[in-house]
Amino acid sequence: MATFPIRVFGDLGLKQRCPDVTEFDGSLARLADDMIETMYAAPGVGLAANQVGVQKRIFVYDAGDGPFTVVNPAIVETSETWEYEEGCLSVPGLYFPIVRPRCVTLSGYDLNGKEFVREGQDLLGRIFLHETDHLDGYLLLDRLDAGLRREAMKILRSGGTGGQVRRLGVREDGGDSGPPPRPE
Ligand code: ZN
Repeated sequence: MATFPIRVFGDLGLKQRCPDVTEFDGSLARLADDMIETMYAAPGVGLAANQVGVQKRIFVYDAGDGPFTVVNPAIVETSETWEYEEGCLSVPGLYFPIVRPRCVTLSGYDLNGKEFVREGQDLLGRIFLHETDHLDGYLLLDRLDAGLRREAMKILRSGGTGGQVRRLGVREDGGDSGPPPRPE
């Protein structure tokens, strides 16, 4: 196994929809293994192929109960909404509260080409949405309201956070005194 360098904001591959996987072979399994190792090394809770420069519709995640791989994911259904502070390995150092659906039904294929449907709530649902967004060519920046997005772009265009954690838009009364979440 090996780790990949992670592509960051500005990389054109992050803005493109990744084409579906058509070959479920050993090289796809090796790619998944290397992506999982890269995700753990980062460390993060999810990683999409175009974050490591591979334009294939596949992501990996670990929401706390071991690594999983999803090939050719599609969001089938969503319900309810919640706000959660999100970070992205491709937008290093920046964290934002983002409202998205809470309950998410995802369809996809495993590495053998067998189709499955999985339901995710809270963090797991958030990972499904964040990673599927990546594979559709969207970053979490595309989910911010205009003011927060402007603030983020200003930081990114002036060279990023310099290795610091910057939590934008966190409510002052939020009582959110813990560390920022693991990025995706
Ligand atoms: Zn991300």
